[in-house]
Amino acid sequence: MGKPRVIYWFRTDLRLHDSPALKAALEPDPAVLWPIFTWDPHYVYRTKGGVNRWQYLLDCQNDLSKSINKLNPKSKLFVLREAPQTLFPKLFKAWNVTHLVFEKDTDSYARERDQAIADIAQKAGVEIVTRYGRTLWDSDEVVAKNGGKPTMSITQLQTAGHKIGEIPRPIAAPEHLPDPGEMPVNFDQEPPNAQPDLNAAHRGKDDKTYNSIAGPKGDFAIETLEELGFVAATTPHRGGETLAQKKLDCIIADEKYAATFQKPKTSPAAFEPQSTTLLSPFLHFGALSPRLFYWRVQDLVSRYKGASSPPESLTGQLLFRDMYFAAAAAIGPAFTQTLNNPYIRFIPWNLPSKDESGTEVGINAISGEYHVDSAQAEHWFQRWKVGVTGFPWIDALMRQLREEGWIHHLGRHSLACFLTRGGCYVHWERGADVFEELLLDHEPACNAGNWQWLSCTAFFSQYYRCYSPVVFGQKWDKSGALIRRWVPELKDLDEKFVYEPWKASKGALGKAGVKIEGDGLGERKKGTYPEPMFDFGERREICIAAMKKAYQVGLHGDDERVKNGTWREL
Ligand code: FAD
Repeated sequence: MGKPRVIYWFRTDLRLHDSPALKAALEPDPAVLWPIFTWDPHYVYRTKGGVNRWQYLLDCQNDLSKSINKLNPKSKLFVLREAPQTLFPKLFKAWNVTHLVFEKDTDSYARERDQAIADIAQKAGVEIVTRYGRTLWDSDEVVAKNGGKPTMSITQLQTAGHKIGEIPRPIAAPEHLPDPGEMPVNFDQEPPNAQPDLNAAHRGKDDKTYNSIAGPKGDFAIETLEELGFVAATTPHRGGETLAQKKLDCIIADEKYAATFQKPKTSPAAFEPQSTTLLSPFLHFGALSPRLFYWRVQDLVSRYKGASSPPESLTGQLLFRDMYFAAAAAIGPAFTQTLNNPYIRFIPWNLPSKDESGTEVGINAISGEYHVDSAQAEHWFQRWKVGVTGFPWIDALMRQLREEGWIHHLGRHSLACFLTRGGCYVHWERGADVFEELLLDHEPACNAGNWQWLSCTAFFSQYYRCYSPVVFGQKWDKSGALIRRWVPELKDLDEKFVYEPWKASKGALGKAGVKIEGDGLGERKKGTYPEPMFDFGERREICIAAMKKAYQVGLHGDDERVKNGTWREL
């Protein structure tokens, strides 16, 4: 038998440091190793990733490719433009592959895909090797130690983790990588599921090379935003393992900050610099290992007098991440929705309300009955989505998110509470969809889990504690600096009114050069800012009363009455 011929399949682990899977790929001393990334249609076409997240991914890929190339000038990150399910059977044969190695992913789509690939590999006689590396502990092991149940609290996560044992120490990056082998892609016939050509309109009709598996120039280059059909990104935040490590070094060098970090004391209004680490997008793409982050902080904390502790500390934040991953791993595809999810409370969002003509309107997300044009809730949702609610704190956060792809955790709290149980009473899944498109760090488990927390449908149940879109922001940022930055219409408004411009006198508004009018949708007149969508105090009472009723009825997402709509008769 010859030496192993290994494909290392990079996915959400775009790094060389602390990669147990990469270490496993190198252990059998392969004759050749191909570091590849495949265009998974699930991510390229189906998920709602906006341009900012794409740019971040490209940053991570480019940086990784450079690092691979430094270890072996013949190698780099080879990007193959085809779905793994159709690509691998051909690669296994044409490249004479013996092993396929990748980092384990417990996301429900990834599990399904990876099982399909494992079946294909088995048929082809290719050995599959996987290792976990995305979380502090293996999420499946956490679930097993939690009695096979999802971790619905940080204490459950900590108890299960304790039973598994100490979080593994990070391992070093490899010092060299084997050469890649030959890479023929002139397979006998065109694959049945070849990717649609996203960017055909931008090129000449005769450009036959474009849609090939190996990219426009046939050199397996990393895709560009142009190739993906995007125009320029707007976020200032950039990705890549090199940058992640530099940022982590800076955070740890500020010993007081890292050792005494207390999340509830960090300001959601802080920007340039923000008050938390902003390491989440690196973690999402695997450009930073969570275990390296954990141990760098923990080693500091162990020798620092007066350090903070979980759940508020920095290591505590990583525990929350593991909690959501393990909850999602246990519940599976139903985790990101209400329907069929036994762990989520059913709330009949968008209870009918009255429109201007006095007609009862509303959206029922379960039955799918939709009154899109007339529904008050739909109108509120559309205003929330683009940051024209007429509540400057909410609008500033949404506009920051849209442009930069990241906002502080408590800013996310404000937006999510306002859209759901603390204002609009719109289904949390609709808000989660918007975040999925906009967040750089979008992680199915963390996004859905946190939306459930904020909407008090799972993880958290104190629905009577709402975030005021006025007072909460004022507590952090009395002068309204965040609002002035992101809602320039109000930049000259007196501090007294900047959170509540509708209360300002004509004179004060005139002095600031702004008029309060309209709903902000469509074309907006220059020098205007929208009227508030509703009286927040009134809405808060309505929402709390509705939540109370839903809690008393006590249905969950897997209840037959939820599935067949008879909950209405209760
Ligand atoms: P830090 O405070 O510096 O924390 C360090 C790390 O801990 C973060 O990078 C992150 O990986 C992890 N972490 C911290 N808080 C949480 C948390 N509550 N849940 C899970 N992990 C956490 N986080 C995501 O990574 N992806 C998401 O898609 C996501 N969606 C969210 C949606 C809503 C509605 C809310 C309220 C929160 C969401 N979060 C999500 C959690 C949290 O807001 C971000 O992880 C955090 O703000 C990232 O900034 P940071 O890196 O500066 O965090």
